[in-house]
Amino acid sequence: MAEPIIIDGTQISADIRAEVADEVSRMKEEHGLVPGLAVVLVGEDPASQIYVNNKERACVEVGLNSFKYVLPAKTSQEELMDLVDELNCRDDVHGILVQMPLPGHLDPTPVLLGIDPNKDVDGFNPVNLGRVVVGNAVLPSCTPAGCIELLKRSGTQLEGANAVVVGRSNTVGKPVALLLLSENCTVTIAHSRTRDLPEICRGADILVAAVGRDRMIKADWVKEGVTVIDVGMNRSEEGLHGDVDFHEVKEKARAITPVPGGVGPMTIAMLMRNTLKAAQMKLPV
Ligand code: NDP
Repeated sequence: MAEPIIIDGTQISADIRAEVADEVSRMKEEHGLVPGLAVVLVGEDPASQIYVNNKERACVEVGLNSFKYVLPAKTSQEELMDLVDELNCRDDVHGILVQMPLPGHLDPTPVLLGIDPNKDVDGFNPVNLGRVVVGNAVLPSCTPAGCIELLKRSGTQLEGANAVVVGRSNTVGKPVALLLLSENCTVTIAHSRTRDLPEICRGADILVAAVGRDRMIKADWVKEGVTVIDVGMNRSEEGLHGDVDFHEVKEKARAITPVPGGVGPMTIAMLMRNTLKAAQMKLPV
């Protein structure tokens, strides 16, 4: 068996951010337009603060305008909705992201519904999920779109491939499966009630794991030559691991993402790309 391709999400994410930066500078020159991303953080959750700061840094790196709103934890639903409405109306804001999770007293559903679908760069508004369903993924959610980029940029044959997605969450499993379907894969979605999961996984040419179970997928669950995208992020005393037992499974894989350094870095790159796309939608045709 040839050496497996270790799909380098860090490098691919850097390539995409460089492509976005080029497009952003072209847009500035040709149209005098600078795409802007507004990120809203409610409360002081330390992990969320890190995510928001990383997004702000990525915006600066690719030349996007970044607008950061940090609201106190006691912010009311009405105050948050008012800010979303204000951002929806602003011409210099092309993308809006409300960092999840929100403090317990706030309901995320009206917030996600309230973001203008054409500014919903996280892709969580049901309109954007619906666009993915009908095969018109204008602003697909970032992690699923990142998985597709990793497959394409690692030379994976998508058309006609048997793809198995383990996990059916609205944020990862379902949108990944629908995007694979749009790429003409034959898609199976597996979940916690699936019978004989190892046998289903052994049928996969492409296996996407989005479960949240540390190294659940073993070498005898996959066939020789499989391409594996591991979305899982499971932290323990032993460190950060995916849903796939990387060291075992790579011996049989054609290509595989590591954790960390696979899907993880892609999410912000795709957020930058979605913000650019949202701004491009505002250009005169
Ligand atoms: P959820 O908990 O929302 O969904 C997990 C899915 O896995 C569910 O559909 C569940 O099935 C299924 N599942 C759970 N246990 C089993 C099992 N034993 N066998 C088969 N299926 C099972 O998780 P998310 O989709 O939000 O995230 C999945 C993983 O991806 C997590 O580790 C998360 O941290 C990571 N993640 C990584 C990101 C990144 O940027 N790299 C971004 C987002 C998530 P059922 O529906 O039947 O309950």
